[in-house]
Amino acid sequence: MLELKHVSKWYETKKKKQVQALKDVSLTFGNTGLYVIFGKSGSGKSTLLNLIAGLDGVTSGRILFNEEDVTKFKANELNQYRNFQIGFIFQELNLISNLNVKENIALSLKMQGKKASDEDILQVLTTVGMEAFMDRGINELSGGQKQRIAIARAIIKNPNMIVADEPTGSLDTQTSIQIMELIKDISKEKLVIMVTHN
Ligand code: ADP
Ligand code: MG
Repeated sequence: MLELKHVSKWYETKKKKQVQALKDVSLTFGNTGLYVIFGKSGSGKSTLLNLIAGLDGVTSGRILFNEEDVTKFKANELNQYRNFQIGFIFQELNLISNLNVKENIALSLKMQGKKASDEDILQVLTTVGMEAFMDRGINELSGGQKQRIAIARAIIKNPNMIVADEPTGSLDTQTSIQIMELIKDISKEKLVIMVTHN
């Protein structure tokens, strides 16, 4: 279970201006299921996901994951949390363009200190309908295909939670529907938190 308790986040800009991105957010998420958070641009969606994923720290409040306080984690605990509990699907995808599909997915497991077998990789690629693309370059994929690879990269870690930042933001309607079906399927077994502006 994931709980946010009175979470606020302030940023300071380079010009020392204080910006409040989140104000007293309290939310409770179950162990599985798809949670979709809507909000217009600038409303704090990416900030919220970054805090949940331990990529940035709260200004005040607590984030409890299975009753452990993520905001109190030391550096090594945070690394463990990010590498083993969480799969990220970023808005910008963050795939590495000079690695091919297989290498991008293998890298995700390497972060956990594990070696991905071709079999493991083929299995996740099959889950996302991309089994024929193992050796394809990232730049040789469509937007929807790249998004599927980003999802495969997140799920091969077998995390308990997936956070997705506008995963259909740059896709056409038909492809978005397919990606949403895939995300819904994943949420049968994992907690999936997705943010979107539409
Ligand atoms: P969203 O993802 O909903 O578009 P963000 O979480 O990216 O919103 O941003 C929320 C607010 O925080 C915005 O007003 C944005 O300008 C501000 N913000 C985000 N990141 C920073 C930062 N690093 N420094 C200063 N302000 C930031
Ligand atoms: Mg955002």
